[in-house]
Amino acid sequence: MRNKYPGVCYRCGQWVDAGKGHFERYSGQFRVQHAECAIKYRGTNQNYLKGGEKNNE
Ligand SMILES: [Zn+2]
Repeated sequence: MRNKYPGVCYRCGQWVDAGKGHFERYSGQFRVQHAECAIKYRGTNQNYLKGGEKNNE
């Protein structure tokens, strides 16, 4: 679904203008990502806060 509201892309950490990406519901909140990031990182758990492929937890 296209994002109605702007926000920070959870994939790359860059700003997403309204309508330029997708938003989704996650853990009771909404998060936004670029349309390009949705394609690029499809099937991965890429998250700019966690950094790349690392998964130390
Ligand atoms: Zn992005």
